[in-house]
Amino acid sequence: MVCMRIVVVAGGIGGARFLTGVRSAAPGADITAVVNTGDDVTLHGLRICPDLDSVMYTLGDGIDPERGWGRRGESWVVKDELAAYGAEPTWFGLGDRDLATHLVRTRMLDAGYPLSEVTLALAERWQPGVTLLPMSDQRVETHVVVTDPDTGRPQAIHFQEWWIRHRAALDPSAFVQVGVEDARPAPGVVEAFAAADAVLLAPSNPVVSVGTVLGVPGLREALLASPARVVGVSPVVGGAPVRGMADRCLPAIGVEVSAEGVGRHYGARSAGGLLDSWLVHETDVSDVPGVDVRRVPLLMTDPATTQAMAEAALNAARA
Ligand code: GDP
Ligand code: CA
Repeated sequence: MVCMRIVVVAGGIGGARFLTGVRSAAPGADITAVVNTGDDVTLHGLRICPDLDSVMYTLGDGIDPERGWGRRGESWVVKDELAAYGAEPTWFGLGDRDLATHLVRTRMLDAGYPLSEVTLALAERWQPGVTLLPMSDQRVETHVVVTDPDTGRPQAIHFQEWWIRHRAALDPSAFVQVGVEDARPAPGVVEAFAAADAVLLAPSNPVVSVGTVLGVPGLREALLASPARVVGVSPVVGGAPVRGMADRCLPAIGVEVSAEGVGRHYGARSAGGLLDSWLVHETDVSDVPGVDVRRVPLLMTDPATTQAMAEAALNAARA
């Protein structure tokens, strides 16, 4: 059998878990993950790439399974010491083990290596079994437009500040990708789509994960030019995100919080949208004109169900 080439567009937790399923559903396949870097932020002088790290730690078996992010067996000594200095921000979870990753990354970036090469170097340790590519080597940072409670005027804050510090409680009126006009797909991204046998959109946040990746100039075009079928997997089940706060993001871009809403937002490839197939949970009903909609179990509760979900996506890609 010829080696299958699979490209997965991914954010953090949802993307990472789905990728574990793809890896076990397609042993021997050449899998490339194109990962959102719009959540990236510089804190205490360190460059932090939350989604790349979630994917790397999850696939490398270093993730904390309960939290779903950061390192297993983590300690928080440095974070406490920074807080004792009153060094802001104090709301971001920087674990001691995790800090080593950010130190190595920042040092390499400062030395002039592009993020894609830094990511490759970090993955040497974790052996994720897939090729990890940032969506872009250029800096793109998602900001959220909210109403400043003091002045009543619109204000853009970094996505991490909105998501973690404010727990997404401030109503977002828009998401802005700062820097995106100067961004290009990272080396290998366009080539991966061009050579793919299957393109899968992970059940990641449609706005601030998948949406951000596809916002990089040229990336959406590369995906659409792929000879492979494009299969999306819904992160929304029964009218709510399975976990996280995607329901705070979708209304801001005018999308209903339902599998059908997200499917229609992605749209049929035959009509200028993204999808050939759309996977929704077995209990959901979803009509997306021009798209092959399939109802299958979509809860990644354990390795077997996660693998079955990935198999369903790969079957849809072969159709
Ligand atoms: P983040 O960057 O860490 O927020 O992670 P992603 O953007 O990759 O994924 C977040 C999305 O994953 C959320 O919208 C969740 O609804 C979705 N998600 C998490 N677990 C599951 C699951 O078991 N099944 C499905 N279908 N979606 C899930
Ligand atoms: Ca994320």
